[in-house]
Amino acid sequence: MSHVLHRTLSHTYPVAVAGEGIRIRDAAGRTYIDASGGAAVSCLGHGHSEVGEAMKRQIDALSYAHTSFFTTDVAEALADHLIAHAPAGLSHAYFVSGGSEAVEAALKMARQYFVEIGEPQRRLFVARRQSYHGNTLGALAVGGNEWRRAQFAPLLVEAHHVSPTYAYRDQREDETPEAYGARLADELEETLARLGSENVIGFLAETVGGATSGALTPPPGYFARVREICDRHGVLLILDEVMCGMGRTGTLHACEQEGISPDLMTIAKGMGGGYGPIGATLVSDRIVRAFREGSGLFQHGHTYLGHAVACAAALAVQTIVQRDGLLENVRAMGEGLREDLAARFGSHPHVGDIRGRGLFQAIELVADRATKEPFDPARKLHARIKREAMARGLMVYPMGGTIDGRRGDHVLLAPPYIVTRQDVTEIVDRLGEAV
Ligand code: PMP
Repeated sequence: MSHVLHRTLSHTYPVAVAGEGIRIRDAAGRTYIDASGGAAVSCLGHGHSEVGEAMKRQIDALSYAHTSFFTTDVAEALADHLIAHAPAGLSHAYFVSGGSEAVEAALKMARQYFVEIGEPQRRLFVARRQSYHGNTLGALAVGGNEWRRAQFAPLLVEAHHVSPTYAYRDQREDETPEAYGARLADELEETLARLGSENVIGFLAETVGGATSGALTPPPGYFARVREICDRHGVLLILDEVMCGMGRTGTLHACEQEGISPDLMTIAKGMGGGYGPIGATLVSDRIVRAFREGSGLFQHGHTYLGHAVACAAALAVQTIVQRDGLLENVRAMGEGLREDLAARFGSHPHVGDIRGRGLFQAIELVADRATKEPFDPARKLHARIKREAMARGLMVYPMGGTIDGRRGDHVLLAPPYIVTRQDVTEIVDRLGEAV
């Protein structure tokens, strides 16, 4: 009997023993194509020797020095690299061990910022339905799934939710994508007015929706309007790029394609590519200045923040992504993936939508293509597709509750940035069989 408390208690998991490139091998000798990058984590694939060597060099020198005593060259170099390539205005990186911790830090920084500048009455967050921001209590409170939050209520953080960017279901037939984006932005502004924008700390959004919504892309102009609305109301814009960031959508940060910069941005997953448990909250100069001129510290911290080996892993991963021009491959293979998905599922009776950016693509499954009626949730289609895909040596990331947390199924694909055109074809072939 296993003494690990696994995610799903009734399930027997294969034992992963080795990884090479885009494949993972289990103890029974079966191989699986990692077409989900785990959960959009693995960007260089598995077993990259250069990353391993960089981590080994760091372990041999020093693996851990508590950040209340020391900084390290590797943490400094990683922050330099991240900030040199960050959206305008972001000036510092706060290191953590993963996505939820990055979101927690962002929420607390945002709150502390308003305390420092003398607006402590701001205590509300606005986020979007169907968003996923992590599983810790703060991140859960702002996340957009009522059923995930309900059993843990009352929560420490009060959040209000507006509509996600879900063109497939919510854009009206007589509406251009721009008009749809403007309507969503208007909803944000109306919500701020209803709550009293002087009570709101920030608007939190995944630039491209991920785990619980299936690669929902923003309509053109939406984020530009959101940025303008936040500025006008003195509300911070916090972008969660834990899943869609660090190259996944074809640019290093997904918000580059929107032409905006946030005040705070969370990154993780692809940042360390699965080699080190690491994430970061990128912080704008304005916030750091308020801390410096105010209490002089950020009232937060974890034992493992800035772990030197995790930093070495992330620095190596980011250096390789840049040196090898992998974002070009993300864009090219993303197009290839779109082509193959369109060819395979474009007229499939049970695929209603194909969406995403770069190597972050999803299909949404429907019982009836004409009416967009979802499958009965009791059928747990997403779980069946995952099983069928694994049986065919394919890892994909299906999820149920796509529409409202309860109904709807999608399958997310997020393969490593090193995939070839042939790999893409094989992935879509196997997915087609599984579906
Ligand atoms: N934010 C987003 C957008 C995510 O997709 C995730 C993880 N799926 C998280 C936060 C939480 O990250 P982690 O699981 O590393 O805590």
